[in-house]
Amino acid sequence: MTLVVVHSISLPPGEYGGDAIERLFTNRLDHAAHPYYEGLRGLEVSAHFVVRRDGEMLQFVSCDERAWHAGRSVWRGRENCNDWSIGIELEGLEGQSFEAAQYTRLARLMRALAARYPIEEAVGHQHVAPGRKGDPGPGFDWMRLRRALRSDRPRLPFAIGAEA
Ligand SMILES: [Zn+2]
Repeated sequence: MTLVVVHSISLPPGEYGGDAIERLFTNRLDHAAHPYYEGLRGLEVSAHFVVRRDGEMLQFVSCDERAWHAGRSVWRGRENCNDWSIGIELEGLEGQSFEAAQYTRLARLMRALAARYPIEEAVGHQHVAPGRKGDPGPGFDWMRLRRALRSDRPRLPFAIGAEA
């Protein structure tokens, strides 16, 4: 695993705090519970981590195993990002902002991942599937993540947010 892919998700979109994300990632979503969920039938997705609005972190897949978060994807000429990336879902809505607690938790998680895996870069789903996916979107502040990562050490552990 050499890449981190940051996503955003909320179920239903724009509503926070329920258990639908956990249910989706463990194939237990009740599709009849909300009209939006009907469209998710048959969708088999997962992510390694979810970071909730209050910073609580949940893990669904071991970082040594592949999760199904990126879909058809390519980064720097290398395809199928699921094979070589760790997927982190932030509870949120594409285009909207994220909470301070989420940046703090994300930075801590990235530090831990960089200590254990040869992570080279962290980018958004929007970067590895342009035109198809737009999350986490313009409301996610990559500079803020960089600052959070720098707060305890002068150097970033790896490139952040599709830097050249
Ligand atoms: Zn995504």
